Amino acid sequence: MKLHEYISKQIFAEYGVPIPQGKVAATPKEAGKIAKKLGGRVVVKAQVLVGGRGKAGGVKLAKGAKEAEAAAKAILGMQIKGLPVKKVLVDPAIDIASEIYLGITNDRGARQPVIIASAAGGVDIEEVARTAPEKIIRVHINPLLGAQDYNIRDLSIGIELDRNHWAAFHKITRGLWEAYRANDATLAEINPLVITGDGALLALDGKMVIDDNALSRHADLAELRDLSAEEPAELEARKNGLTYIKLDGEIGCMVNGAGLAMATMDIIKLFGGEPANFLDIGGGASAEKVAAALRIILSDKNVKAVLFNIFGGITRGDEVARGILEALKDVKPKAPMIIRLVGTNAEEGRALLAEANMITAETLAAAAQKAVQAAKGIK
Ligand code: GDP
Ligand code: MN
Repeated sequence: MKLHEYISKQIFAEYGVPIPQGKVAATPKEAGKIAKKLGGRVVVKAQVLVGGRGKAGGVKLAKGAKEAEAAAKAILGMQIKGLPVKKVLVDPAIDIASEIYLGITNDRGARQPVIIASAAGGVDIEEVARTAPEKIIRVHINPLLGAQDYNIRDLSIGIELDRNHWAAFHKITRGLWEAYRANDATLAEINPLVITGDGALLALDGKMVIDDNALSRHADLAELRDLSAEEPAELEARKNGLTYIKLDGEIGCMVNGAGLAMATMDIIKLFGGEPANFLDIGGGASAEKVAAALRIILSDKNVKAVLFNIFGGITRGDEVARGILEALKDVKPKAPMIIRLVGTNAEEGRALLAEANMITAETLAAAAQKAVQAAKGIK
């Protein structure tokens, strides 16, 4: 789950990271008021869950309340990479001497968190990573020990940070680490971490991603979820208690059980096809749940065939069949549908589906082969 800049920065501040003392606004008027209170120059920033706002025109400097109001008006009417801007952050403008990148994420390959820093921070950090990778310093953190003083010294030396800033950089990096660890984040990033004209360090931008699997431990954060940046099909799936992950292939899959879903995807690949999704309807799924799942699968334009692999145990074949028939009342799939249905009430299920014009198969291998052929247009 991604967190907005203003929330990320508030969390960082709780762990001792200095941030500009701004506020969020939902209307231009409000933005003007905040600017007036702050006094002097301000920066008005779109709060959207995508990177590169600055380059897209979502970050504007303003000389006073009037300009801030106008900037907010422009930004609140924008779409950035397809996402509407609903809030802006109004921060006091900062005099920037240089921009540092500082981020923490999990390095899956190394099975450890890694702190990444660069003296060439700011909006072009991706470009730096591509053209001058030696300017990006990585220090792995032992997850049992946490960030140690020597880890942070290695970073300071690596980015050739002036000695005068070591103490401040140390405090910020430690704070960012604590925020990352305590909130079960998979990303905590400050870009830019600026050195101001008078030599102070300040986090101007902030970004945090929280591990979805840990949200049960962070009820307060879970409440802040902004659904606008999420895949509509995945949202719909979550609402219906389905586990759905969209993939790039052309064979839609509906399966009961995560392990069975993995096996189904493997066997589709074995016979030369590509799964369009991972979908686990879970045990004992109701007809409504099955219907929702089928609608979600068919909302993917890439789907050329749908494979149902249902191994009835707690899940009942007749219930699954009723769900399919229910969904077929309002969705008229052009894609051929192949079903392998075995186990509890499979007979009853098959009888119900007799007039649904589905291709049936006895074994998973046969079903997968038929699905691959159907997706390729072979009868
Ligand atoms: P991003 O484009 O989404 O990463 O948005 P940022 O918050 O990182 O802002 C992009 C860039 O705008 C920064 O790298 C700065 O160069 C510039 N910027 C942001 N805030 C200020 C500010 O208060 N003063 C000045 N001079 N520049 C700023
Ligand atoms: Mn940034």
